[in-house]
Amino acid sequence: MSLDNLRDLYQQVILERYKKPRYRGQTEPIDRRQRGHNPSCGDTIELTVKLNPTGDRVEDVRFQGEGCAIAMASADLMAEAIRGRSIAEALEMVERFQQMMQGKVEFPQELRKLNVMQGVSQFPVRIKCATLSWHTLKAALEAVIPEPVGFVSNE
Ligand code: ZN
Repeated sequence: MSLDNLRDLYQQVILERYKKPRYRGQTEPIDRRQRGHNPSCGDTIELTVKLNPTGDRVEDVRFQGEGCAIAMASADLMAEAIRGRSIAEALEMVERFQQMMQGKVEFPQELRKLNVMQGVSQFPVRIKCATLSWHTLKAALEAVIPEPVGFVSNE
């Protein structure tokens, strides 16, 4: 497959996730809630998280919000990848995603869907769109109180 075709494929996945997200909504119950904002593009997101009874594993993540295709598709792919992960694994994935946006690494085979966002690393102004949901997830998982007040900003 040529590089151009590959790029088209990635764009298709991003557009499809934007138009038909699978993880839009709110978790039931809501164990964590965090809003995030990307002022440089205007993307806003609200994540809700359902944890397991011992609070060390993510059972479900859902997102709401408005924003560009990259921000919304990234949130949907993130929600899919994070479900079922321990908090420690989820935080490692946040770290890896940020490194991928710097062009340093990619995700292994079982998480390869996340690699469709890799192309965004070539467009520095859009990186914050792609990382918004991950940044917001990190704040949600590290929060000591269930519903922190206000937005996190990635500016
Ligand atoms: Zn955006």
